[in-house]
Amino acid sequence: METTSDKPSQAFDVVIVGSGPSGAAYARVLHEEAPMLRVLMVEAGPLLSEQPGLHVKNLPDPHARAAAQLASQGPVTSLSPETPVPGPGRPGTFLLRPDVLAPLAGMPAAAMSSNVGGMGAHWTCACPRPGESERIAFLDDGTLDAALSDAERLLSVTALVFEDAPFSAEVRQRLAGEFPRTGSAAIQSMPLAVQTRSDGTIMWSGTDVVLGPLAGPETRGDHFELRDQTLCQRVLLDDGRVTGAVLKDLTTGTEYTTSAPVVVVAADALRTPQVLFASGIRLRALGRYLNDQPQVISAVRLPTEAVKAEAGTAVVGAARHSGVSWVPYTDQEPFHGQVMQLDASPIPLAEDDAVVPGSVIGLGWFCATETVEENRVEFDENVTDHYGMPRMSIQYSLTWKDLRTIDEAKEAVTRAGKALGTFLDDRPPFLLPAGSSLHYQGSVRMGQYDDGRSVCGPDSQVWGTGGLYVAGNGVIPTSTACNPTLTSVALAALGARAIIDRLT
Ligand code: FAD
Repeated sequence: METTSDKPSQAFDVVIVGSGPSGAAYARVLHEEAPMLRVLMVEAGPLLSEQPGLHVKNLPDPHARAAAQLASQGPVTSLSPETPVPGPGRPGTFLLRPDVLAPLAGMPAAAMSSNVGGMGAHWTCACPRPGESERIAFLDDGTLDAALSDAERLLSVTALVFEDAPFSAEVRQRLAGEFPRTGSAAIQSMPLAVQTRSDGTIMWSGTDVVLGPLAGPETRGDHFELRDQTLCQRVLLDDGRVTGAVLKDLTTGTEYTTSAPVVVVAADALRTPQVLFASGIRLRALGRYLNDQPQVISAVRLPTEAVKAEAGTAVVGAARHSGVSWVPYTDQEPFHGQVMQLDASPIPLAEDDAVVPGSVIGLGWFCATETVEENRVEFDENVTDHYGMPRMSIQYSLTWKDLRTIDEAKEAVTRAGKALGTFLDDRPPFLLPAGSSLHYQGSVRMGQYDDGRSVCGPDSQVWGTGGLYVAGNGVIPTSTACNPTLTSVALAALGARAIIDRLT
């Protein structure tokens, strides 16, 4: 039987809800710039490895990796690992509605991760900067660029690690011929959150990298605590000011309150508005302007002569990883291309048709869509989800302009594919079901003014509630195609500094 009590009750300066890259960025900046502040981070999901937030791709044992992915797939699977994974979500994620998968209705592929590190323990690590109108116009360029640089530091972003991977130069050259761009929109290596170990192997940046010293027991200090399997049920507010949070230990069912003058809700783009809703916040824009990045995909193969020409060179022998190239967003072509060289074909090939690693190429184009108030995640006051939180449902549709953008993206993928080589099958580039991008934005969007069209101000503080901050992709107010994590971490760094100004 669950109990409600004030035990164990503790006082903190800041409570952070959610342990993904955005919550971790708050914790790290607070630790670096105001180490005297006592910070509690709570995470609904379990710890996956000794190092909190480690990217599961860094786990050498495939069984450990599969177990970590399963443990991230929500309350049902994580509590009973033998239960089959519900629905066809990506490994490490679970679908909001495992029972529906219809390409254009609502957002059937909307998914989440519940684990220490959040999706940041499973992601692909692509970290492009937003360009042109993807940027947030009311943040001055200097502030935004400095914050993006800070985010690159926190995530350990580089475009150099795979630059000389097999066939990468060939891929970039072929793309540049088809997309003759200049400056920051030119074809280039994708900036990725990765590091090279001293032995030359690759470490993917998980959320542990953002946590930095806070991920290690020796370096964490005694002012930061991470509680896994701890759900934030609601934020406590008194007269428009934060006083703490109601938490629930999911291992025992014990509910308790923690006091703090500041709470940061960094619980992903769907569950951040859920926590706010559960806390009684009813701002008009809450959950609205929900924005996904429609994803068009295809796969091609470099021509045999290009593969043969490079296959004998020293570069192929020296490089160990396949490259990722980037076709940046422009306002004229409002999508961006993630061009991933693969070591195996994504579709079955003839038995005697061996793939030379890096010569098969996955094309994934993310499209920017219009920000529409009616696209929204809604919450039910009377029905609860597996966690006992207000149940979510999503109302989402694409506009005619969005459909046109998607058609243009399909054409761009076709052009890219023809420039690169031969398509792997006869199917033309196709659109994945809405939500497949895993990049949901706008649900707690930032605005310059409290005009009913935003949930928080430029410092990420929720309008009208002193001490309540929101973080994550839901804060991004613009229509973007670029992968959002870098931008969210940048906004988190700005928000953390606003908290420091407030508390010190
Ligand atoms: P999350 O990482 O989602 O973390 C939120 C955390 O909050 C979760 O762990 C959740 O359990 C917790 N939580 C929710 N509700 C509560 C509550 N009430 N109480 C306590 N805790 C709660 N992005 C990119 O930019 N580039 C990529 O290449 C890329 N590739 C991806 C590939 C995959 C397979 C996946 C899964 C994601 C990818 N993403 C990518 C998306 C990226 O991982 C997210 O943008 C990023 O993790 C968002 O960080 P976040 O901290 O805001 O949220």
